[in-house]
Amino acid sequence: MASPSNQVPTLFVSHGAPTLPIDPGPTGPFLHDLGRRIGRPAGIVCISAHWDTQSPRVTGAPAPQTIHDFGGFPKALYDLRYPAPGDPALARLVVDLLGAAGKPAAVDPKRGLDHGAWVPLLLMFPAADIPVVQLSVQSHLDARHHLEIGRALEPLRADGILILGSGGATHNLSAFGQAPVEGGAAPWAAAFDEWLRAAIEANRVEDLLAWRERAPDPTRNHPTPDHFMPLFAPLGAAGGPGRRIHSAFTYGSFSMAVFEWG
Ligand code: ZN
Repeated sequence: MASPSNQVPTLFVSHGAPTLPIDPGPTGPFLHDLGRRIGRPAGIVCISAHWDTQSPRVTGAPAPQTIHDFGGFPKALYDLRYPAPGDPALARLVVDLLGAAGKPAAVDPKRGLDHGAWVPLLLMFPAADIPVVQLSVQSHLDARHHLEIGRALEPLRADGILILGSGGATHNLSAFGQAPVEGGAAPWAAAFDEWLRAAIEANRVEDLLAWRERAPDPTRNHPTPDHFMPLFAPLGAAGGPGRRIHSAFTYGSFSMAVFEWG
């Protein structure tokens, strides 16, 4: 049980390509160090871009499977497992908190952890001994919906639960493969990334919620919003300014930015 003085932060992690564990670049070691600094949360609620549902769903399996939800990558990636326990009681609590906030949610007793969850968790908490519950996004709904989900989950922080969003600060799949893995960022992606940093650090929540109108090149950076929506849950759970604690780009336009609040 964490005291308010050492309350776990909330985090948004850009997970990049599924190959991150076997091709970690600068972000892999960063996430490893971040996990060590955070220590051992009592549990983790991970909002992943790769589980997109009509209404919120929460994993309720006591031993969630590792889902290899990608194709065409090296075999070594399919051999990886993240055998962290689930936490059915925490899943139930998440459903109750969301329901009380007017967000009807349900437990999915079978769903495992997709790579949006297990890739960063494998790097951050390699012992896989912290219970993990995954929460879906609703990419057909707006940023405010996801912010409100985060606000509803805020009480969990006092119990030492880490609220972790996993997506991408910028994410345009059509730009994938048009630039080398390492190297400089495309100007349109760098501009969005910088706008995001400044807005989060100044806690300009209304600007963030209106990102489609106020951010530079929003559609080019997020042709679909699924990888951006997970950012709003840790933002909502935090309720104050955050800071960018890691900055990198892969393939010229995929920001690997990591944000921390609290
Ligand atoms: Zn992804």
